[in-house]
Amino acid sequence: MSYQKDVSEFMNLGEQKISSNLTLKNDQVKLYMNLIKEEFEETLKAFNEDDLVELADGLADMVWVIMGMCNSTGINFDKVWTEVRASNMSKFVDGKFVKNESGKILKPEGYFKPNISKALGL
Ligand SMILES: [Mg+2]
Repeated sequence: MSYQKDVSEFMNLGEQKISSNLTLKNDQVKLYMNLIKEEFEETLKAFNEDDLVELADGLADMVWVIMGMCNSTGINFDKVWTEVRASNMSKFVDGKFVKNESGKILKPEGYFKPNISKALGL
C-alpha cells in the first residue's frame, strides 16, 4: 500500500496532473497548498474541541492533500521519508536519547540532517 499511489489514482480519475518532474510552478500546486491549510485548520479545530473522530478525519485528510501536493510537485514522498526517518533515528545513540521537559526527543552529538536534495535527486 502507498498513500501517494492511492492519491495518484484519485487525481488521475479527477483529471489532475501528476508531475513527473520537480516543479512549483503550476496552479495545482497553489490549490494543494490551500487544501493543506484548510485541512490543517479543520484538524486544529477538532483538536481544540476534543473531537477524536474529527481529529482522525482531519489527520487522514491532511495526509491525503500532502500526497496530492507531492504528486503535483513531482516529489517522491517515499524517498524523502527514508531520508527523514534516517535522520530522526540518528537521535538515538545506542538506544539512548535525551528529551526536553515537553517530551521532545532532542538532537544529540552525531545527529545528522536529512539530505533532502539527494532524496529529490538534485
Ligand atoms: Mg477535512
